[in-house]
Amino acid sequence: MNETVDNADTTPGVTSTTSATSATTASTAIITEPVVARTRSELRVARAELGEGGVGVVMTMGALHEGHAALIRQARANARHVIVTIFLNPLQFGPREDLARYPRTNDADMEICRREGVELVFMPTPSVVYPEGDPGVRVSAGPLGNVLEGQARPGHFDGVLTVVGKMLHLTRADVAYYGQKDAQQLLLIRRMARDLDFPVEVVAVPTVRETDGLALSSRNMYLGQSDRETALCLSQALRAGAAAAVEGPSAVRRAARAVLVREPLALIDYLVLVDPATLEDVPEWYRGEALLAVAGRVGTTRLIDNVPVNVGPGGGALEVFSEDAGRGRESDDLTSPLS
Ligand code: AMP
Repeated sequence: MNETVDNADTTPGVTSTTSATSATTASTAIITEPVVARTRSELRVARAELGEGGVGVVMTMGALHEGHAALIRQARANARHVIVTIFLNPLQFGPREDLARYPRTNDADMEICRREGVELVFMPTPSVVYPEGDPGVRVSAGPLGNVLEGQARPGHFDGVLTVVGKMLHLTRADVAYYGQKDAQQLLLIRRMARDLDFPVEVVAVPTVRETDGLALSSRNMYLGQSDRETALCLSQALRAGAAAAVEGPSAVRRAARAVLVREPLALIDYLVLVDPATLEDVPEWYRGEALLAVAGRVGTTRLIDNVPVNVGPGGGALEVFSEDAGRGRESDDLTSPLS
């Protein structure tokens, strides 16, 4: 499904005049604007133009930044066509969350899509996605949706999976790209695709950070200068934890916690080192890939961050998990095939 196709004649953002909505002449090709679809019928027409196979999708809530751009670039690198969805999904926000103040930056978002050579942008309103209002039938994230972020945000992952399922059906994408930044979301989307037989390949993209380590997030726009400095403790804690990975789980947790306790202005919700497949705390004997994740409030802003780590000899931070992550081995089991 993840075909790497020869896109010499179908380079995203470079198409013939017949499929271009607006075009400017370049020396050898015609550079097009992304096609913007706001309704289901506009999407259907534009999607049909892309043909079958090799279609990648990047789903976003807008307020695009370099993290989103990295997903788009990865999609462009190995999909034949790239669709970006921009939809602020009300279903995944709780009644006391930040839906109303979530940044809306449509013009800047389009500029990024244009710059990155996106061919099709699906930008619907809630009434297009949910014509009958809130859907009575939703995807249930199951038990993995009730821990960590799901515990802090009840119903959040049901709302995420419901819209992801709908967007996969509407875009008929073959490959979908998600950020490691939202590790639990990524895990649950993978599970949904597997458990409910969605014909899509899910690809993880490493977290993009500022040079000082802060993970890029649309919510960083809420942070004033001093909040932003406070927020740095999250990525610093993860880095300290990952640096202790050779010593085992308790050393990782201790090192990360030591950074967080020095920053009383960050109200930490959780700091965990968990099995990336079950999200359960890894025991002290565990060696292998684990998820070091943190969430906390800085001022009025809830932030999350994580780093995949390899615990044990030669351990440290990873960019993304391997295919068989979550099957840790005992520290003294030198004959294990995973060792
Ligand atoms: P959002 O618009 O926040 O729903 O994010 C859309 C997609 O971008 C999700 O797959 C996120 O995981 C991903 N994403 C957000 N921030 C980053 C980041 N800093 N690095 C990589 N991917 C990101």
